[in-house]
Amino acid sequence: MQIAFWGVRGSFPVCREQSLRYGGNTSCVEVRAGESAILIDAGTGIRAAGRALVAQGVRQIHLLLSHAHWDHIQGFPFFAPLQQPGTLIRVYSLRRPDTSLEAIFAEQQRHPFFPLALDRMAARLEFVELEEGQVVQIGDTRVYSRRLNHPSVTGGFRLEHQGRTLAYLSDVDLYTKLLLGAGLQTPSASVRQQRLAALLEGASQLASGADLAVCDTFFRPEDYEPSWGHSRPEDALQLARDSGIGQLALFHHEPHRGDDEIDQLLAHYRRQAGSQLELLAAAEGLVLKL
Ligand SMILES: [Zn+2]
Ligand SMILES: [Zn+2]
Repeated sequence: MQIAFWGVRGSFPVCREQSLRYGGNTSCVEVRAGESAILIDAGTGIRAAGRALVAQGVRQIHLLLSHAHWDHIQGFPFFAPLQQPGTLIRVYSLRRPDTSLEAIFAEQQRHPFFPLALDRMAARLEFVELEEGQVVQIGDTRVYSRRLNHPSVTGGFRLEHQGRTLAYLSDVDLYTKLLLGAGLQTPSASVRQQRLAALLEGASQLASGADLAVCDTFFRPEDYEPSWGHSRPEDALQLARDSGIGQLALFHHEPHRGDDEIDQLLAHYRRQAGSQLELLAAAEGLVLKL
């Protein structure tokens, strides 16, 4: 399994001198597993990923979408494979109660937001709405999805291929006591506790024994906002320890965080990580083989 990072920022893309090493595009990770080309999230990083896929002649692309917040879909209208006849793009995401997956993408390209409507794209598009916990087979890769604790309806993914495992957990507040997702609120304290426990259990199952976990670490402890639905590096480290993760990539970096600050965070948390866990910070252009 080969993992390439095309966009590692949260919220919005940045381009400035202090962000050139880690990169400024929003979330997009490419996974090559056997013959399958899989992308996770469609932030602005998907633009360069799409150009590379077209240049390589890839005609079948699977896109796993964590959720529809802007930083995870805003690159999609500029995804070059959309303009390629004979290309199939299959998009997967957790089912929402309020709207369809196809409607989310159609809305983003609706006049006056974008000049070309989704149904004018040359590629064939298919939309697969997943049930909580549903397992999907993509080639010889098994993909597991679970709901995460984050505003909206947000899913994490676990990809297993030939005995190697990648977990993708962005966006999520792993250990919060607040229920943040759409439809999760309830007046019953005991039901709230059950739902919080189930969300954490889902995240833990996705991460369990993963060779690599890509994890939301948007906040530093001093910046933490309880209602935003993002984690801190210590949360990701806790999950890594509890779930037996081999390698942990800090991801979904806060857009104002400069390269030197990410270096400092990494050095600080490497001292806490211990020798069992390899800690790194996701950077645009970084390619990892599992
Ligand atoms: Zn995000
Ligand atoms: Zn989000």
